Amino acid sequence: MPLTRRDFAKLGALGLAARLAPSLNAQTGERKTGYAVIGLGRIAGHFMGGIRNTTNSQVTALVSGHRDKAERIADQYGVPHSSIYSYEDFERIAENKAVDAVYVALPNSMHAEYTIRAAKAGKHVLCEKPMSTSVAEADAMIAACKAASVKLMIAYRCHYEPTNLKAVQLIREGAIGQVQAIESAFGFNIAAGEWRLNRKLAGGGPLFDVGIYSLNACRYLTGEEPEHISAFASVIDHDGRFKEVEENVAWTMKFPSGIVASCNTTYGAPMNGFFRVHGSKGTLEGAPAFNYDGLHLIGDFGGTHLDESNPARDPYQFQAQAEHFSHCVQNGLDPKTPGEEGLRDMQYITQIYRSAGISI
Ligand code: NDP
Repeated sequence: MPLTRRDFAKLGALGLAARLAPSLNAQTGERKTGYAVIGLGRIAGHFMGGIRNTTNSQVTALVSGHRDKAERIADQYGVPHSSIYSYEDFERIAENKAVDAVYVALPNSMHAEYTIRAAKAGKHVLCEKPMSTSVAEADAMIAACKAASVKLMIAYRCHYEPTNLKAVQLIREGAIGQVQAIESAFGFNIAAGEWRLNRKLAGGGPLFDVGIYSLNACRYLTGEEPEHISAFASVIDHDGRFKEVEENVAWTMKFPSGIVASCNTTYGAPMNGFFRVHGSKGTLEGAPAFNYDGLHLIGDFGGTHLDESNPARDPYQFQAQAEHFSHCVQNGLDPKTPGEEGLRDMQYITQIYRSAGISI
């Protein structure tokens, strides 16, 4: 006999409902997409906050190395304790019908392993950026998801963010004329002790972590793929932080149309993430362009002065991203930022490192 909403409410009180099925979308009456969040760190907190604001998604399981933390978070999100998994018993998630998809929010080098394990367990995968720490891993992730007939999306939140989308639209409409050049940068001053400074966990330095925003932005702003890349990397602060990864990377790219881009990333300075696009009829600048909120678009073109701030507050980008992936899962659609999008960035990151003389 099918369960009614009232049955679900009763089961919810007993802490069992989420293990049977996520609740229903109040607007459409459809079943929400249930997510297992893997790795309960900083970004997972933003994501779960975003999920809470969606109508089509729900956190239904947690995967963590810290049971006490997981139980605390489970209580906040109504996840039954029976739906908390350790990394070791992760495969048991296959039996949990309340889990449709996983959100991989682990250190970079663990993305491939958990994406592949999740695919083998029959779950769709939303994986944080950078997709992986190598092109080979990215290829294996795409192949595993294809073999299991599950969807793979990389969490490029800017692709779902109105300020970035408006910049793309204006450029495509020709508002600033023929794009000639792009400048972009993103970085921060990293604290000692972060896993991001451990090459085995991070894969590399700021390019993997935040430089990827500039790289990806140059691609979505131009709508082209770079055909020539050259780069430099350096370490200035010999204070023990940069024994395994670089501190700075600067790279330039030439696109097929002739558009040139110059980008910087660092772990040694507070570098507010921005892009500035120079066209034959004017400029367009997102500053900041990659933060969780407070995004701002300024433009001067064809007699127009554009000055727009996005008033939406964090975690709206995570909400939009989850809504998109759940919509794809529920309707059998391909996500806008599939594994192949992450793979391309991994290929360019590899080229940037090679050009800078860093082996990867
Ligand atoms: P955190 O260090 O805050 O969280 C990572 C979590 O992974 C930990 O809390 C831990 O969860 C789990 N973990 C498992 N093994 C390890 C290990 N050996 N060392 C450290 N943590 C481990 O990282 P972030 O949340 O900042 O980053 C996670 C991923 O998200 C990265 O790939 C990063 O690039 C990406 N990211 C994306 C952002 C975006 O805006 N899209 C912004 C920030 C990060 P537990 O204790 O539950 O086991």
